[in-house]
Amino acid sequence: MLTRRTFFERLSTLPLVGGFLGGVAHSAEAAVPVARDYFKELGVRPFINAAGTYTDMTASLMPPEVMTAINYASKQFVPLNELHDRIGERIATLVKAEAAMVSSGAAAAMTLGTAGVLTGGDPKKIVDLPNLAGMKTEVIMQKSHRFGYDHAIRNCGVKIVEVETAAELEAAITPQTAMMLFYNNNNSVGQIRDEEFVRLGKKHGVVTMNDCAADVPPVENLWKFTAMGFDLVVFSGGKGIRGPQSAGLLLGRKDLIAAARANAAPNGNSIGRGMKVNKEEMLGMLAAVERFVKLDHEALDREYTRRANVILKSLTGLKGVTASITVPEVANHVPHVQVVLDTAVTGITGQEISKKLREGTPSIGVRPGDELLIGVWMMKPGEDAIVARRLKDVLTKKA
Ligand SMILES: *Cc1c(COP(=O)(O)O)cnc(C)c1O
Repeated sequence: MLTRRTFFERLSTLPLVGGFLGGVAHSAEAAVPVARDYFKELGVRPFINAAGTYTDMTASLMPPEVMTAINYASKQFVPLNELHDRIGERIATLVKAEAAMVSSGAAAAMTLGTAGVLTGGDPKKIVDLPNLAGMKTEVIMQKSHRFGYDHAIRNCGVKIVEVETAAELEAAITPQTAMMLFYNNNNSVGQIRDEEFVRLGKKHGVVTMNDCAADVPPVENLWKFTAMGFDLVVFSGGKGIRGPQSAGLLLGRKDLIAAARANAAPNGNSIGRGMKVNKEEMLGMLAAVERFVKLDHEALDREYTRRANVILKSLTGLKGVTASITVPEVANHVPHVQVVLDTAVTGITGQEISKKLREGTPSIGVRPGDELLIGVWMMKPGEDAIVARRLKDVLTKKA
């Protein structure tokens, strides 16, 4: 007799049985969506990206080369670790690193890199993390380099030790020091610059990691910091490189990348099991790196400047509005339009403008702030003119 529980358990398997009988394998291929508007169905409004590669704005759009690789990968089974090995070798060659691995993002690359430094290849330590018994426990950072993403390091249970000067850094190195972490964007803010940081790491035999997540272009940054001597260098896959948003790169020393891999999926009993990367993201990331290193970056820069000028021009002469083209020094190093508002004259704040742009038609996403920093590099062709017109309309209260 069926108990109530087993009845429901059996019931829950029925759609699956029905599916097989109904020939799901064939219909799945036949049923490639024609023009189903999922976002509309779901009531989620797409917007023009006038900001940049921000995770909460879904960051970047994958180019056709990347989607072709992802679709290719989705149709066959392969041994995951073997694929990971081969793709790591290919990417390492492309970015002139000793070794490379695809992670589920830059933050995951930081966690896995740290885990590898802490455990080496010791299976027991890999299982124990984030319990650090028998392992080193500290990571040194410059105080001015502390940032939200150092949580990715602290995931491994380590404590961050803050220093300001080179002398303080040297004094802070103890047998408990596992690693020294550098935040590339803040190079010019800290008292210890990148080259000196590397030199101090080497002098004391301490591993150095550089978080360069958002720091391409320029494309040379993909090899600049490993060449400089950082043992580990981290990039986002889905920012400037325009690979999958859920991918990233850990580059550097072969032994450390191998140890990071040992702490990663598919290994079940590891700190990185939740940071899974399957064949689609891996191949997508390879295709994205191949594309990115071949791009005509100068032509792209001219195109971004042209777009920025379209927006700048539409704002010229508006009272209380000072707009200029600006290129952030390190992260997001591409032309942006900076809009400074004298709100007493404009009668509208940056926050109100960004809200109006987002709620208007078409919807336009900018980073809300007192000043507006309009990013043009994630726009599709023609969107620069739309943003220019909408911004002007909002500022002149026509919309
Ligand atoms: C975006 C970013 C990260 C996280 O990158 P993901 O690829 O989203 O994990 C880490 N560090 C910095 C400096 C970033 O800008």
